[in-house]
Amino acid sequence: MVPGAGPSPRIAVIGSGAAAAGALLGIERRFPGAEVWLFERREPPEFPPYPPPSAEPDSDYLLNLTCLTRQRYGLAFPPPKTHFGVKCPSIEVPGWGRLWESRERGGLTRYWGGVTARFGRGELCRWPVGPAELTPFYDCAAEEMGVCGPDADSSRPPVRPVPAVRDLIAALAQREGAAGELTLTPSLPAMALETRPGQARRCTYTGGCMAGCPHDSIYSAAMTIDRMVAQGVVSKVVLAKVLAMDVATRTLALKEGEAGPFDLILVAAGCLGTGQILLRSLPGLSRLNLLDNPVFTFPILAYGGSEEREDSYFGLTNACVTVTTADPTLPPATVQVYPAMDHLWQSLVPGALWPVATPLGRLLRRHVLIGRLYLHSDHGSVVRMETSAGGSLRLSLGRAGKMPEGLWPALRRAFHLKGFRVPNLPPLRQKTSSHYAGTLPYGTHGLGADGGLRPGIHLCDATVFPDGPAASPTLTIMANAMRTAMAARPVR
Ligand SMILES: Cc1cc2nc3c(=O)[nH]c(=O)nc-3n(C[C@H](O)[C@H](O)[C@H](O)COP(=O)(O)OP(=O)(O)OC[C@H]3O[C@@H](n4cnc5c(N)ncnc54)[C@H](O)[C@@H]3O)c2cc1C
Ligand code: SF4
Repeated sequence: MVPGAGPSPRIAVIGSGAAAAGALLGIERRFPGAEVWLFERREPPEFPPYPPPSAEPDSDYLLNLTCLTRQRYGLAFPPPKTHFGVKCPSIEVPGWGRLWESRERGGLTRYWGGVTARFGRGELCRWPVGPAELTPFYDCAAEEMGVCGPDADSSRPPVRPVPAVRDLIAALAQREGAAGELTLTPSLPAMALETRPGQARRCTYTGGCMAGCPHDSIYSAAMTIDRMVAQGVVSKVVLAKVLAMDVATRTLALKEGEAGPFDLILVAAGCLGTGQILLRSLPGLSRLNLLDNPVFTFPILAYGGSEEREDSYFGLTNACVTVTTADPTLPPATVQVYPAMDHLWQSLVPGALWPVATPLGRLLRRHVLIGRLYLHSDHGSVVRMETSAGGSLRLSLGRAGKMPEGLWPALRRAFHLKGFRVPNLPPLRQKTSSHYAGTLPYGTHGLGADGGLRPGIHLCDATVFPDGPAASPTLTIMANAMRTAMAARPVR
């Protein structure tokens, strides 16, 4: 496959997730009229035989979905997050657990939780660029995602939290910590979620987010990619897995042959995808280390407080709490607070008993919240990526990482508020946060601030991040990919 020989630059974008969406935002502005080929590794989606409903999901639909999920993945608690009954594909790290690996348009944002964050000076302290340089790209990416939040300048109203979360935010805001204790700063989350009244995609608080949103209220990068294809920013979509790049000729090796040469290649296949391509493309590169944030889940019990009845609710993050220590050199942590969603009990209770269980589920939502503590990747796992002689990917655990000494008791004390307690149980460690970063960071292999690996080849995803701060990375992935695409120089 050979792109045209016209005067406009010939650009290849590898991947079709958030990083690719950001790269296309940059191309749209910096290289209008370019011949853009998008390479996406599309595996046939195995979505249920019935389409998601366009109206509010009824209990028959939810029951069907729950049964299908149980049939496919067995009885599991907590039940998996799915996109209409389909779990995100994953690959095994022997002796450790599984990593989510996207294989379709939209990438991991098909399954994500929609929490967005802008990295501040602290999160960017190891980066070659600072907050001011990223701001215009953040603005653009946030506009594209449609971020709602508590900021006065947000065009979308913030998420309406369940009453117990509202009470928790108020209690945390009034809390006065003892000297040397943790500082907890609560806020409503900035979400890539349509909340504007009157919009067809607006969230109607059905609470079913963990099984797939029937209204598409949560942003997926597939929306941007679809738009770019429809508007002609992307000239050609190539449904093929890129195996490797010839970095001298800027030609791509596919299973089905070759594509290129291109004047510019923007690599945006996510850390796992990009890592595999790099391992097969760079002579002498035999191993990469993938950084992951450690995540710990724990219950927060709420007693007293508001007894108001709330049947509709938002089933993902209802509040974010930034956790900082007295030691300014330690990076902040984040606690995302979820309600006890119905899908937890629905996964266990037979359908015939759902009418009886529904009021209990409501009670549970009023009195149990779920906290998810995200720490900096300095405390997280490191997964080694290597390729076998046959070219297939081999993963192994380089480091498990752990909670810093004393953090858990301090956090429990900090949540010891009027009306709230965190029980004295060890928090449950998840094997991945799915926030991968840092496989070929800035400053290594000649990578400058523009992500340039070789002339005409730029890395656009979290591969180049120096580390993985606790804050949600996807808005930064998209903004930084846009910045990278706009700084990239095609070679003719
Ligand atoms: C359950 C879950 C919840 C999450 N929640 C949040 C959240 O609330 N907030 C947040 O910020 N982040 C969250 N994340 C993480 C977030 O989804 C990812 O950080 C983000 O989507 C990464 O985007 P990416 O484009 O870099 O990579 P990916 O999403 O991995 O996309 C890579 C793309 O490249 C394609 N590709 C890969 N290899 C090749 C190849 N060789 N050839 C061609 N194409 C290829 C893939 O098919 C895919 O389209 C969550 C993730 C999961 C799984
Ligand atoms: S609560 Fe979740 S599933 Fe329901 S409309 Fe809102 S985003 Fe979609």
